[in-house]
Amino acid sequence: MKKPRAAEVELELGFSAAPVPASREWKRLRDAAKSCQACPLWRNATCTVFGEGPVHARVMLVGEQPGDQEDRAGKPFVGPAGHLLDRALAEAGLQREELYVTNAVKHFKWTSQGKRRLHAKPNAREMAACRPWLAAEVEAIEPELIVCLGATAAQQVIDKSVRVTASRGKRMASAWGTTALVTVHPSSLLRHHGSGDPEAEFEAFVADLRKISRL
Ligand code: SF4
Repeated sequence: MKKPRAAEVELELGFSAAPVPASREWKRLRDAAKSCQACPLWRNATCTVFGEGPVHARVMLVGEQPGDQEDRAGKPFVGPAGHLLDRALAEAGLQREELYVTNAVKHFKWTSQGKRRLHAKPNAREMAACRPWLAAEVEAIEPELIVCLGATAAQQVIDKSVRVTASRGKRMASAWGTTALVTVHPSSLLRHHGSGDPEAEFEAFVADLRKISRL
């Protein structure tokens, strides 16, 4: 896949290009990402939340963006959705410590409601600005499988046209050639508005995660 040059990215987005170093040493990438200001999301966030996990993990999980607790802790998937993910991984017989966990966008985007900071979906330009970090993580970790948790991750990893409902549980190819699997974001299981069976939805999520071992 042809990589856009930094100047091309700047022209297309109107943002400066993410300062991704040439090195694919994971620590260098993480440290460089701390000072990224390639899109406006850094302004209202506490810190860059880079991925974490074994640098040679065979499986990479990609979520959407850090949430309130992740933003404060500087770590991915440590809030309510992260706890649900941990529970689902355990039920699927997987150890989170063996997986590399990251997000499609590295800064928390939010709107305020009183004292609460509510999640706001990153837009297409913010996603495009942050994508070089995810691409660099994929090159550094070289996973055998990328699991996309939700639509934003799937569109960042596979293609902008991917829809979770149509692609869920299917073996696909990422934009980098790595095998990819699409499932829901665990936060979607926390947002019930009287419809659906929460237990059945959790079991369906666990069933998707069980496919990781098979793939
Ligand atoms: S969201 Fe991504 S591109 Fe935007 S400032 Fe943060 S790290 Fe940089």
